[in-house]
This record gives sequence, C-alpha cells and structure tokens, in this order.
Amino acid sequence: MVMPLMSLLSRTSLRSSLAHRPLLAHSSRSLSTLPNLPLFRALQNHDQSHLAVVHSASSRSFTYGNLVADVVRAKERLETTGDRNGLAGERIAFLAENSYDYVVTLLSILASDAIALPLSPAFPVGELKYIMDNSQAKVLLATEKYAGKAQDIVKAGLDREPVLDVRGKIVTGSNGEGVELRDLGQSRGGMMLYTSGTTNRPKGVLIPQSALTAQATSLLEAWKYTPADRLLHLLPLHHIHGTVNAIVTPILAGSSIEFMFPFNTDAVWRRLAAPFLSDSSSKITFLTAVPTVYNRLMSSFSALPVDVQEAARKGIAPENLRLNISGSAALPTPTKKAWQDLSNGNVLLERFGMTEVGMAISCGLDFTDRVDGSVGWPLPGVEARLVDPETNEVIQPGEEVDANGRQREGEIQLRGSTIFQEYWANEKATREAFVDCGDGRGKWFKTGDVATRRTVDGAGQGTSGDWAQGPMYFIQGRLSVDIIKTGGEKVSALEVERELLSLPQVSEAAVVGLPSEQWGQKVAAVVVLDAEKAAATGRNGKPWGALDMRRALKDRLASYKMPQEMKVLDGPIPRNAMGKVNKKTLVKEVFG
Ligand code: AMP
Repeated sequence: MVMPLMSLLSRTSLRSSLAHRPLLAHSSRSLSTLPNLPLFRALQNHDQSHLAVVHSASSRSFTYGNLVADVVRAKERLETTGDRNGLAGERIAFLAENSYDYVVTLLSILASDAIALPLSPAFPVGELKYIMDNSQAKVLLATEKYAGKAQDIVKAGLDREPVLDVRGKIVTGSNGEGVELRDLGQSRGGMMLYTSGTTNRPKGVLIPQSALTAQATSLLEAWKYTPADRLLHLLPLHHIHGTVNAIVTPILAGSSIEFMFPFNTDAVWRRLAAPFLSDSSSKITFLTAVPTVYNRLMSSFSALPVDVQEAARKGIAPENLRLNISGSAALPTPTKKAWQDLSNGNVLLERFGMTEVGMAISCGLDFTDRVDGSVGWPLPGVEARLVDPETNEVIQPGEEVDANGRQREGEIQLRGSTIFQEYWANEKATREAFVDCGDGRGKWFKTGDVATRRTVDGAGQGTSGDWAQGPMYFIQGRLSVDIIKTGGEKVSALEVERELLSLPQVSEAAVVGLPSEQWGQKVAAVVVLDAEKAAATGRNGKPWGALDMRRALKDRLASYKMPQEMKVLDGPIPRNAMGKVNKKTLVKEVFG
C-alpha cells in the first residue's frame, strides 16, 4: 500500500489520538481473541494480578491482566492497518523504548500472525532504511518518542512505503477477561532480527513463531524461570539476548521484568541494593548481561557509599540473586572470579548463542556445572556436533584428542526446532549456511564458531538436568577472525585473550591475526593497561610493556601462541552494544 506522506502524517496523528482514548469495555464488541499458541496460552493462564512489567525509573507497573488486555487492543488496532490480504507473514517494523509499550507491541505483532521486526532507535536513519528496504516491511510502528525518527525513515524514500502508525503511551485500565484463544492453523508469524553485519551488510534472520517458542521452552527448562523471578533488564531490544532470554522466556514463565535502560552502573547498583536498604522494592533474582556489563559494574563499585556497597553485595549474593548469566561474548575468567568474590560466592553462568539459533549451549544451574572457560552442554532440544573445518570430518564423541594429544577444534554445527528458518530474501546465504548430512533428520546450521569438547571432572553429572551431562564445549572463537593460523599451528584468540586478562596489568585485550610473510599470520594483541599497575611494575624506568608481557606468559602459553606484537590503547577497546569487538575494523584502525 503506497500512501502520500501528508496523508500518512494525518493518519498518524489520528492514530496517536486514538491511543489516548479512554478504554472501552470489550463486552460492547464481539469477543476478543488471541491465537491459540503456547505463548498466549501461558499469558492467559498466569495469575492475572501478578506483575508482568515494571519500569524502574517511573515505577509504572503492569500486571499480566493488563498485558493480555493491552495486547488484544494493540492487535485489533494493528489489524486495521492490514488490507484484505491481512497481516499474516508481513513484516511489522517498530521503534520503541525499552518499556511495557515495547512488550505489548512485540506480542501484538505475534498475535496478528505477523513478523515482528524491532529496530534499534540508536541506528542512523540510513541503516534503518536499509533494513526497511531489505525486509519490505508493510507497517512501521513507533512510540511518540520516536515519531520523528520514524518520519525521517519514511521521508528517506523507501522501496515499499509502509503504513506509519505512531502510538501514544499505553494507558492501561482493564484486564484481559473475556479473551478467547483461537486456532491459527498454519502460523506465518515470528520475529526478524538483523545480524550485526561485521563482514557483509546485515542479514535479516527469520525466526518463525515455532522456533521462538522452542527457544523459550528450552531456556525455561534449563534455567527454570518462575513467577517468583524478577529479571532486571539492561539490554538493547534488537538482539536475541534482550528479546528471547529477557522478554519472551520470562513472559512464558510468568516472571516479572523490570526495565532499566540505558545501562547506568550507579543506578543498577542502587537498584540491586534497594531492598537491603529498608526500601520496599522487590529483590532482583535474575540478571542476564554481557561480560562488559559485569566488568563495568565491578569497576564502578568502589565509588558507591559504604552502606550502598554493603547492601549491593547482599543484592547479588547467591541467596538473593538466584541466577546471574553472562553471554554474547567470551567471559574472562578474572571477571567471573571477581564477581564471585564480590557477591559472596555467586558464580556467573556462561552460555553460547547467536541470532540464528537463540541460545544453543549453556552451563547448568548447579554451581559445579559452571566450569571456567566452558559454555556447557547443548540446551534441551538442541543437537550439536563439531566438524573439523579442514577435513569436514565430524569429530565423534571419544575422538576429541588427536594423535599428538592435542584437543581437536571443530566448527559448532547445530540443528533442532530452535534454529532459524532463513536469511530474508537471501537464498544464497541461507543455502551456504546449512549442510545436509543425509541422515534424513534435517540440515545442520554452520555457526562459524569453533570449539573443543572435553569431559570435566565433577561436572556434567546430571544435577542441572538430563541435558547437562557428558563432555562440555569450550569456545575458541570465530572461524573467520579468532582462529589464527601461524606457522602451520592454530591459535585461538580467545585463549590468548584469557591469559592476557589474567595479568594484573591488563584490563582489556583483543587478540588478532595479522598477515605475515614468514608465518602466514602472526599473533598480535591490542590491550588497555591498568595505568597504576603498569607504572608500578615496569622496569628500567619504562612502564610495563610487550617484553614484560611475554615474560609473564612464558610458562602459560606455547611460544607460537605468544603475541609477537602488542599495541597499547589509551581508551577502551571499541565494542558494540553487546560488548563485542569488531576485530576486522580494529585491525584496520590499530595496525593500518
Ligand atoms: P549475535 O548473533 O550477535 O548474538 O552473535 C553471536 C556470536 O557471539 C556467536 O557466533 C559467537 O561468536 C559470540 N558468542 C556468543 N556467546 C558467546 C560466548 N559465551 N563465548 C564466546 N563467544 C560468544
């Protein structure tokens, strides 16, 4: 549907005012419906008076009853934007702040059997235009806060002009009584997220509703979310981590989600401390974040007043913070150890996942199943294997060590009901991402991540669940950037980073491969130093440097793994919102 901009804008203001209209009881209309899908069945079955979403700063809070009613209303309004072809399978892009309104919008799109496409408000218009054009979105929804941005996107001239619908803040007032579940038949809805596009332009990852449900069901079984959980939500909402782990799964479980975004260390510490400073707020039981978030929290801790420090430490102790999870990038062991010390024994649970597969491999709830440097076992419903990238041989259980006694590295390949369907409008990329092994049980997705697998004494006894048994996976890095081939040997950048970070002088590290005539590639390190410790431990009047680094690691790293170059940065290593370093850009910027 193509509409001139002026009529779009007038339609926009009409719609915005509709959003503020007082709520009418549903009984005056025909019965409202939601699709008979696991997520909506769960929504309806939860205690309707239980808190679903809390907004930390304003204390706005919403029950599951409110959520059901508001999702129904938003879905009905959304359906008025569809033409006679309806919305099934259509992409509905939306710009919304981290809030109740985001949750309602996401669920209302799923309830319309459409594909929810959350856009990052932080992206420039040009990138959002690319996503709109690539996805051929039919509707662009925006909260009032992002009305201007949404209009700028439309004005940029899109290939398929969307229906623009700006919505005022949701003013809730009813609960979801009288909502009926209706069978959809073949579902065409789901979610679409764009990859971060470190090598090519971002790709649209289509996660059908069934995969979304499978991902959430798997996490629910492994991490045991419950209605008693209050999850503190600190993450952006256009990534799998912030959406599936921290919205869809807690909602399936009936937990409460508390939004606190953008991330601010002082505010987070004070919130964690609040219930232990005679404040009436509920304690946080569930935190899921990226390693940089834990690092930043810890480096700001000493600036807190002493009473807040004491209360915050209680807030993150294992008896209060039931579960603290780290993922999206490798968790350095010193970070894990420092968090454990600060929290009086809480152990970060590490897991591995990606946009295309949701969460795939995870450590277990039992502390003995959270092994340093490991991401654990394939989650319930996920099948994983390791494939030697050079020979294409599957590394069978029991064949993980080569003739020289070295751990064999293989690409992680995955299959199961949690895996995405396709890269949107990119048949070639989809074809290349999957491999068929001919056993008639479906294709394997090639993650591009390399791991080793080994049994760890004392772990994997099944105490965290049947799925958490046997040998564990250890991520070595991305095949394309983190597996460095030097003089015929393979070096895992992640392993070298872990060793560098264990040195007191090094506060950040990224290890990369540089082209080398002699070696093919050589190992190089980009580091940020702890200024005080580096100044105090240098020699001959010079601050701590590359020679000292090599000396310190001599007994820990084989000589071919030792960084041959080390560049010290003044500021932090550039990372994206999920704490990931784009190593290709870093190499260009630092080494030219
Ligand atoms: P994304 O699709 O943006 O979530 O990025 C997925 C990528 O993040 C994976 O392919 C891995 O390279 C990386 N990743 C996720 N979790 C971990 C982890 N626990 N350790 C190391 N890398 C990770």
